[in-house]
Amino acid sequence: MSDLVFSDSFIDGDFYSTSQRFSVDNPATAESITQVSDIDEAGVEQALKSADEAFSKLKQTTATERSETLRRWYELVIEHKQQLAELMTKEQGKPLKEALGEVEYGAGFIKWFSEEAKRSYGDTIPATDSKHRLTTIKQPIGVVAGITPWNFPIAMITRKVAPAYAAGCSFVIKPSEHTPLCAIALAYLADKAGFVKGALNVVVSENAKMVGEIMTESERVRKFTFTGSTGVGKQLLSQCASTIKQTSMELGGNAPFIIFDNADLDEAVAGLMGAKFRNAGQTCVAANRIFVQRSVLETVLEKLTDKVAELKVGNGLDDGVDIGPLIYPKAKEKVQTLVQDAVDKGASLIGDNSELEGSFQAPLILTDVTPEMDIYHDEVFGPVVSIIAFDDEEEVLQLANDVPYGLAAYFYSENIKQVYRVSEALEYGMIGINEGLISNPVAPFGGVKQSGLGREGGHQGLDEYLEEKYLCVKV
Ligand code: ADP
Repeated sequence: MSDLVFSDSFIDGDFYSTSQRFSVDNPATAESITQVSDIDEAGVEQALKSADEAFSKLKQTTATERSETLRRWYELVIEHKQQLAELMTKEQGKPLKEALGEVEYGAGFIKWFSEEAKRSYGDTIPATDSKHRLTTIKQPIGVVAGITPWNFPIAMITRKVAPAYAAGCSFVIKPSEHTPLCAIALAYLADKAGFVKGALNVVVSENAKMVGEIMTESERVRKFTFTGSTGVGKQLLSQCASTIKQTSMELGGNAPFIIFDNADLDEAVAGLMGAKFRNAGQTCVAANRIFVQRSVLETVLEKLTDKVAELKVGNGLDDGVDIGPLIYPKAKEKVQTLVQDAVDKGASLIGDNSELEGSFQAPLILTDVTPEMDIYHDEVFGPVVSIIAFDDEEEVLQLANDVPYGLAAYFYSENIKQVYRVSEALEYGMIGINEGLISNPVAPFGGVKQSGLGREGGHQGLDEYLEEKYLCVKV
């Protein structure tokens, strides 16, 4: 199919249709793109069985073979970049230029892990006596199940599936019910690239709870990986306890973005625009609390106001659009509630907050934000900048760390001593220093505290799918 739009789950190398269907809507137009199959319990069980059988076949493959298959998958994704990006903009809303960027970023994980597949080295351990030889080998964990969100419909899947396949694991994935089409297209291309049948199954359902329960409680599944909100992550983590699964959790953040008075303010504002407005603010690493040193507050606000005024809101398929719709109308309602709460408690609003149609939300700046406001504690997941003034480094570090999350943090400083002091003091898994866009397939992505467990990308990303076995040989 030339446009890569498929409407069924994908199990054992084939489409899996059910009579029950639900609509996947374009958030920009509220029109239905297609009616997609809503899988039932039996379908999910079948996908797990298929993954189990594929795992046995994967054990017969070499790392080199899996590397070459992944490389072909990468090439097919790049070949279909335009169709995948258009599909993504239609089902998710992000501007086409960002969707194209995500296809490349997502494909980057496939390419990286096609290379890392060949490097799952074990250790040789110096023995403690002359009669023993001690080594370790790394082996695939087994069947993996995963659940992914709608904000990055391709990259959130490739950064789990590619390392799993590289390691020799089979996979059942449940994409968000809002963006299942990119997931099915990816599985179709993986099959075309020569994936072992059943090594990548996509189960599409509106009943996330049902799928999650089967995945987490199944004895077949040895590893569960999730990207989504902290609340759902906690629930799934506790469900995984029943079968002691290995887990990776990429959960929510509440990223501080700190501008010190010695920063290059033009660069800081440019970095903030990317860290805040990419994907209309709907990213777990989005700058959420912007701390600006009081002496430069006025200048930063002037520069920021000018830049924000240039942003164009609209359908992501139209030329020149910077901010697409939020994923659904309820997401806009949440943003509006947070903004209203902040204004009621004393924040000042810069920007035009008059109602836009559907899920579109205008970019806004809130100043004088305080910890008493809900927007300080919640991920806003929308195009709203919250500004908090601070006086010194000690104060801002205390404020920045005083949240239960620890995913990404950003700061701008030209002072090398401050760069090291602040980098080491921030309780976050990833730090952007004079940089607002930090995600990269070659580097480890992940959080501390309630932002999650494990790392995706980098050489660390492969270990998430490997068990290390110790061999003790008496000679
Ligand atoms: P978001 O607010 O970004 O959609 P969620 O955590 O609600 O974040 O969703 C992320 C993924 O988790 C989606 O695929 C969604 O369908 C799934 N999900 C939501 N609730 C549950 C649940 N109770 N059990 C399993 N999966 C769930």
